[in-house]
Amino acid sequence: MIRKVFILFAVVALVFAAVPAEASSISDLQNELKNTENKIDSITDKLKEVKSEKYGVEKQIEELDGQIRSLVSEEDSLNDVVTVLENNIAAKEAEIEQIKDDISSNTELLEDRLRAMYKNGAVGYLEVLFNADDVVDFMTRADMVQRVVNSDVEILENLESQQTELEIAKLELKSEQNNYYMALEDVQSKRNDVEIASRAKETYMSSLEDNIEELKREEQKLLDASSEIENKIKQKQLEMKYAGGEMAWPAPGYYRITSPYGMRPHPLYGYWSMHTGVDVGVPMRSNIVAPNSGVVTYAGWYGAYGNIVLIDHGGGISTLMAHNTSVLVTEGQSVTKGQIVSYSGTTGMSTGPHLHFEVRVNGSHTNPLDYYSGF
Ligand SMILES: [Zn+2]
Repeated sequence: MIRKVFILFAVVALVFAAVPAEASSISDLQNELKNTENKIDSITDKLKEVKSEKYGVEKQIEELDGQIRSLVSEEDSLNDVVTVLENNIAAKEAEIEQIKDDISSNTELLEDRLRAMYKNGAVGYLEVLFNADDVVDFMTRADMVQRVVNSDVEILENLESQQTELEIAKLELKSEQNNYYMALEDVQSKRNDVEIASRAKETYMSSLEDNIEELKREEQKLLDASSEIENKIKQKQLEMKYAGGEMAWPAPGYYRITSPYGMRPHPLYGYWSMHTGVDVGVPMRSNIVAPNSGVVTYAGWYGAYGNIVLIDHGGGISTLMAHNTSVLVTEGQSVTKGQIVSYSGTTGMSTGPHLHFEVRVNGSHTNPLDYYSGF
């Protein structure tokens, strides 16, 4: 029997010992939350950094694209010039062909004439010469023949010199074209370099984009983790035992109840309604303190209540201080008994400066004065 009791005790002890080990305390969770939030901050910073780097690279790519565009247009205009030169060269070639034809037909003509002079004594130059009547006539005729031949030769010489000129002009055009080809090659190689640089930047940018995606995923994971921790904290707060002990009066030095808890005519509209707390007469900007230690579950504007502070004291007990001018605490903040949490006022639906004070048990209002002796 004693042995059994001992075993049972040992098992119970084991169970109780196991509880704190697996469930961390609220302050542990709050530290974990802070750590996670710090990590989120550093990831956010890193994201900003990478995004600004990406922006810089984008600008550089834009600039390189601009350079590529201007090189392409330079290439286009060089190509235009090359085409014009090609046409000019072709025109010169056609002229040269024409001249060559002229030369060959004139050469043929001259050859025919000369052949006729020697071959056929009766016809042609010699006939002309020997048919002369006298010396003067002979001389005149000889001179005429010479002139005809001279003229044929002159025409040929003229044509040949024209051909030479055309050939020179063509060579000049070719050399000019060659210069343009070289300029074109130069521009093309420049464009090639810029395109390589631009592709490298694009690769870098896509790696930055991957980096951004990765950081965003990490950020999301941490955000999920932090909201999970926040939920755990809320759960812990719900499970939390009441801070214990007697509550401190939320408006130190002011104890006049101007409107009690319970059914009453509505102060603004007159209809009969439930007053869910007590009103305490306090001047503007008086200190309002936490009635007990706990965690702030809401701090800020809350409609007809004006600026409120809602504190969870554990064990399902929370207190609410309303109509404040300003609040000094934030949601999730731990407060100690008597700590100043706000300054009184008349915000929300209120007829003048006062503190509306509620005590809630598991969310339902109750008479706050039940928690104080001396009223
Ligand atoms: Zn009230």
